[in-house]
Amino acid sequence: MGTVVMNEVVNPAGLVPPNVVDLDHERAGFSWEHEWARLSGLPGGGLNIAYEAVDRHAAGARAGHVALRLLGRDGARRDVTYEDLSRLTNRFARLLDEFEVAPGERVFVLLPRVLELYVSVLGALKHRNVACTLFSAFGPEPIHQRLELGQARVLVTTAALYERKVAATRASLPELHHVLIVGADAPAGTTALEPVLAALPDDFTIEATDPEDPALLHFTSGTTGTPKGAVHVHAAVVAHHASGRIALDLHPDDVFWCTADPGWVTGTSYGIVAPLTHGVTSIVDEADFDADRWYGILQDEGVTVWYTAPTAIRMLMRIGAEVAHEYDLSKLRVAASVGEPLNPEGVVWGLEAFGRPFHDNWWQTETGGIMIANVPGQPIRPGSMGRPLPGITAGLLHCDDEGNVVRPEHDPEGVVVIDGAGESGMLALRPGWPSMFRSYLDNEARYRAAFAGGWYLTGDLASRDTDGYYWFVGRADDVIKTAGHLIGPFEIENALVSHPAVVEAGAYGVPDPIAGNVVHAVVVLRPGYEPGPALERELIGHARAALGATVAPRVIRIADTLPRTRSGKIMRRLLRARELGLPEGDTSSLESS
Ligand code: ATP
Ligand code: MG
Repeated sequence: MGTVVMNEVVNPAGLVPPNVVDLDHERAGFSWEHEWARLSGLPGGGLNIAYEAVDRHAAGARAGHVALRLLGRDGARRDVTYEDLSRLTNRFARLLDEFEVAPGERVFVLLPRVLELYVSVLGALKHRNVACTLFSAFGPEPIHQRLELGQARVLVTTAALYERKVAATRASLPELHHVLIVGADAPAGTTALEPVLAALPDDFTIEATDPEDPALLHFTSGTTGTPKGAVHVHAAVVAHHASGRIALDLHPDDVFWCTADPGWVTGTSYGIVAPLTHGVTSIVDEADFDADRWYGILQDEGVTVWYTAPTAIRMLMRIGAEVAHEYDLSKLRVAASVGEPLNPEGVVWGLEAFGRPFHDNWWQTETGGIMIANVPGQPIRPGSMGRPLPGITAGLLHCDDEGNVVRPEHDPEGVVVIDGAGESGMLALRPGWPSMFRSYLDNEARYRAAFAGGWYLTGDLASRDTDGYYWFVGRADDVIKTAGHLIGPFEIENALVSHPAVVEAGAYGVPDPIAGNVVHAVVVLRPGYEPGPALERELIGHARAALGATVAPRVIRIADTLPRTRSGKIMRRLLRARELGLPEGDTSSLESS
């Protein structure tokens, strides 16, 4: 797997050249100070995300350029220019003033992907409040948990969402002073947003903002347990902008589409902030995944840079590349993926379906922005997450066979860094990049435990090849210890997905008296394949041939779906718990089937 090298088409005729043609060269000349200088800074001092994203364009030549193109569920299409967005967000900031919301207090947004979501987040940032977006498909329980933990002062939502998901427990949220309703008919105890906004002036001066002031609160996906609230500061915009340039290759005339909901960090860092700081047009689709709709958007909107996730890619793969060929996707220049490991098949499938390979990249809620990427303009290694971005120092730390970082005896505070290639260890990052989280909400101990020996420990295991590309092994919580080997589920899943019948797979360990653990897997089939014992046996044989008998799954089950988080990540811990009849743990992020 580590030896596959696919050179992508770097600059086909008619397309703009990539921002980075040589990553090593870019790294050598890179400094965060220089990246700060690419932004404007607030006229009154400091740095504010919303100013960089909106106002500096609204004040200049890009004022009339479309910032957001909003596609409604019903087919409506609305363009909002940078100037419009500046005025709308000014009004929202004024409203917070009017309601005497103090800077630093938290403004929660529970909305579908409609304009008011973007206005509330950016308006709250202008007013120096901390914005927290919640995925609108969450049920009442996870919403309550997060509003309570985050001590929400303001909530922006719709009447329907409020009545179904918040009203019943509102009384136990004493900190929540204002519920603002988008749309007509504000229920009792809430305020209709539009009339208040309409009565306010549309100018606002952002006060001096300390780059270290908290700006965004994001909850992790809850894949491995209870979601954690990661706090980010205004300085994060420097990393959003830099990674937008380097990893997503944003150019001023791009039409960019990030398919993630802003309820997840990807949908905020790259669905709101990064594209706007680059002054590009960002597509916002209110509707959920639908293959024809998505292909239609890519074609009709002329999307040039597309940022999506393996779960969506696998759904498209399941339907087949022929469907993609019915559309004219020739404008697409860069397709990128994040959120889960992307099987090599997925990368290559992109080439087959769109003539563009997927550029896998890696990061997490805590890192606030892309850390490791297959950067456009550089050779892609299918199955690899790519190389650390300039400004990012990644390393691998030696782990024991349970996946825990080894502390040397002579230095219990220290770690052992893996120097060479090929060995897997805990993926770690040197703190200091601007979008690094500054705390876990209400969990100082957990925050402290995430650092050792001068590194931030990501909780993911990876290996590195001789050229510095990183390869995902698995989450430390998901690795399987069998017969003295430490196995990452990704390797097993890759082997299964390489069989033509399998579109996705989840591998996990179950206790075994002899081996310690053995591997079991659940797979989802492509259409046209008949489930049954014959195919299960064939898949076991296929996996054995690829992985060897010790590592290959002993049991393979065929299912219609895999349990996943609402952000689309396979929850291996649930596959295991369900098979073994164990408690399911925190399932507040589980997608309802
Ligand atoms: P929790 O921390 O609550 O268990 P989570 O880690 O899934 O949830 P996120 O921060 O949304 O929450 O996801 C980040 C994680 O997703 C990474 O740590 C990694 O495990 C996985 N991930 C993201 N991108 C990639 C990728 N390109 N390849 C492999 N794994 C990825
Ligand atoms: Mg995590």
